[in-house]
Amino acid sequence: MSELNLRELHNTEFPVPNDLQSNVAITSLSKIYNWSRRSSMWPLLFGLACCAIEMIATAASRYDLSRFGMEVLRGSPRQSDLMIVSGTVTKKMVVPIVRLYNQMPEPKYVLAMGACASGGGPFKEGYNVVSGIDKYVPVDVYVPGCPPTPQALLFGLIALQKKIDGQSLANFDDVPWYGVGPSEAVPVPVLGPDIIDPRQMELIRRAAEAAVEGQPIGKREAPKRQEAAAPAKQAAVAKTADSADGEAVAADGDIDPKKARLMKKREEMLARKRAREAAKKAQG
Ligand code: SF4
Repeated sequence: MSELNLRELHNTEFPVPNDLQSNVAITSLSKIYNWSRRSSMWPLLFGLACCAIEMIATAASRYDLSRFGMEVLRGSPRQSDLMIVSGTVTKKMVVPIVRLYNQMPEPKYVLAMGACASGGGPFKEGYNVVSGIDKYVPVDVYVPGCPPTPQALLFGLIALQKKIDGQSLANFDDVPWYGVGPSEAVPVPVLGPDIIDPRQMELIRRAAEAAVEGQPIGKREAPKRQEAAAPAKQAAVAKTADSADGEAVAADGDIDPKKARLMKKREEMLARKRAREAAKKAQG
């Protein structure tokens, strides 16, 4: 835990005599509460992909996480208050991640480390990757990079500390875990062919019912530009039908100019062949 700085805690609205300032501090309850929380944050020990290597490096002696009171990475969500999502979040892994988040006690925070955790990264819209962990759990700090350096992660952790410093015990929006009743768990997504967010269940159900009734849910409407071009298309069909006796016009009305040209050539060849045969007969 970092050293207690009484001058930092001191609230100048209530002046303390100069000779007592290194021994006495007058401060608000929120400030001492935030100071103690942000100076003893225990991250949950887990990594998902390459970003985890940088997180491990951050926890090693060179960068010294213990300066921030964060060196105690816990192996259990029950003892952690910070989740560092370090790496690519696959559809398979998002389910245990949300479950672990729900098992962490309040107050708890989430830091999305790297491009993958923040928005899918280089694998965005891949068949097996979710486009950011913030679609499933609330994220407090995003650290950009692929991977972010240990310095960038430290910067993100300091940003989180600043966020905590700004919270007030008097504002229940800042500290909802002191509200009436237990805090609500985040819905755990359902793993399937495509992962389902239970919060969207009503929307999915309505879309499925509409699809059963034959309504065009999810189908694209034809752009207006195409509708305006329809008379021109009919004219072209008529022209091609004139030139190739209608054979080049498909049954659904579509024109095949290549086929029309071939038909014309074939007609000309047959005509030449018939002329040659007639000439031979006349000679014979
Ligand atoms: S952001 Fe880059 S380094 Fe981090 S997990 Fe994704 S691909 Fe790996």
